[in-house]
Amino acid sequence: PSAEAGLYTASDQIVLLTQENVESILINSTAAMIVEFYASWCGHCVAFSPTYKALARDIKEWKPAVDLAAVDCADQENREVCKTYKVRGYPTIKFFHAYSKPDYEGLPFREFSRNVQDLRHKILDKLETHGEPWPPACPPLEPTSQMEVDVFFETNDVKHLALIFEDATSYVGREVTLDLLQFDSIAVRRVLNTEESLVTKLGVTEFPSCYLYYPGGNFTRLRVDIEARAFYSYALQRLPGVVRSGKPPPVSTELLKNNTEDPWRPFDKFRVYMADLESTLHYSLRVELGAQSVFQGRALTSLKAYISVLAKVHLAELSDTYFPGRPIVTNLLKDLNSWLQKQTGDRISYEAFKEKLENDAQSPNSTLPDGVRWVGCQGSQPHFRRYPCGVWTLFHVLTVQANSKGSDPQEVLRAMRSYVHNFFGCRECAGHFENMAAETLEQVTSLPTAVLWLWSRHNVVNNRLAGALSEDPQFPKIQWPPPDMCSACHAVKDNGEHTWNLTEVLKFLLTYFSSDRILTDYLE
Ligand code: FAD
Repeated sequence: PSAEAGLYTASDQIVLLTQENVESILINSTAAMIVEFYASWCGHCVAFSPTYKALARDIKEWKPAVDLAAVDCADQENREVCKTYKVRGYPTIKFFHAYSKPDYEGLPFREFSRNVQDLRHKILDKLETHGEPWPPACPPLEPTSQMEVDVFFETNDVKHLALIFEDATSYVGREVTLDLLQFDSIAVRRVLNTEESLVTKLGVTEFPSCYLYYPGGNFTRLRVDIEARAFYSYALQRLPGVVRSGKPPPVSTELLKNNTEDPWRPFDKFRVYMADLESTLHYSLRVELGAQSVFQGRALTSLKAYISVLAKVHLAELSDTYFPGRPIVTNLLKDLNSWLQKQTGDRISYEAFKEKLENDAQSPNSTLPDGVRWVGCQGSQPHFRRYPCGVWTLFHVLTVQANSKGSDPQEVLRAMRSYVHNFFGCRECAGHFENMAAETLEQVTSLPTAVLWLWSRHNVVNNRLAGALSEDPQFPKIQWPPPDMCSACHAVKDNGEHTWNLTEVLKFLLTYFSSDRILTDYLE
């Protein structure tokens, strides 16, 4: 109960400390720990919590070296914890070095602002002055020299050495070093602009800039749109041979092509496929909804809203439904919808729904093809991607359709929210999504903001799932669209922080998910 009453939940990438677990987490930890001591009733703490959550998302790749935790001192059960660590005001942030002893009280951050970059820099400063024993997972953060680089490949078993040239006040090199910490085959080091021999040898004139250095002294400049942390980390994590530690290397598509059970269908990663949308409908209407025996109350309302959104027509073009499918499919959706809207009783059995779905399917002009045929949503193994990928794609397409055809900004998102809440088989996903919707769906006040809302929520989920077991190594969870898909979508602020150019993102989404760009390959 204590964790629920607090300002953070387990899905925030923040370790929730309690009286019971505090010792096992803080004492003798192999990672340095940052702990926020707060009181859930304190206004400053509430105001600070979004920053702390954003910080946790921002440095989640650093966890093995430095991890974030929080403890709610307002919780009776934690009173002793906050007393032991001599916390008097809230919020207090303390740094605990790796292998802390039981009597260590932590090093407080003297002053801190509600600014992720600022906090991140403070953490780096603290990490850099970390004495021995150094957190074993943390790569060296001090600048490297020509001498070290010369012998680097003799002592390090990696394919790539990335050198980030920068001035002494810049944090980019250290940030990228930690961003790559969980990736094999690559090491990152910062080089100061005052390291003349290396600067001259590589002919470096721009700071920051990033070079890849190879055994024998070969080197090449890393090409990025903008010389900034997010761009370096994204590009380096995708170099050939670079994989997340402890994960099997991606299966090559050659191997996948030889899999006879469900032969691999080559596809363009940058396009949307109708086969995925139809497969999603098949699975949703025949399998997922089939798990219900009757629809009543909220479930019935939810079912009606879902089918109604799929079958919705634009007043001026009566044949065009929001689901941008082939006529046989959209005819079925329209039939199903008008039948559903006519049902005035307080319950409908799945059998009745199914009868309508399959009866109509006997008519050649009104059919939903049976079975799945994943294309853009294929996974490198059967337990990866597929249906949830289809669900995201379907709803992105629908928000984009509504943008040009609809009038109610929240219509599609409300339908999605209640579908996910009532029917989506992954119950944990449903819980997370419901929390996000409850927090921010109200902010959607126009059709374009609905498109952007779903995009940004999807990125929050991507961020949370990056590196998780459910991630297909062939399709890593990234902040989407990546620079090589939409370079104009990315920008950096004056302070060097990554930011999205929302005008460009919207433009990109409206094109990417637009009905006339959906590919119809692999349809029966
Ligand atoms: P997906 O995330 O499914 O994305 C599908 C495709 O959409 C991508 O290939 C890409 O082309 C595009 N895309 C990616 N990001 C964006 C974006 N920001 N905007 C627009 N398009 C984008 N899994 C969990 O383990 N825990 C959860 O809590 C969880 N919650 C979920 C909630 C919902 C509502 C849904 C639909 C799924 C959820 N999942 C969750 C599943 C997870 O999000 C992925 O769908 C699944 O892991 C498959 O991943 P994927 O690689 O196919 O990419």
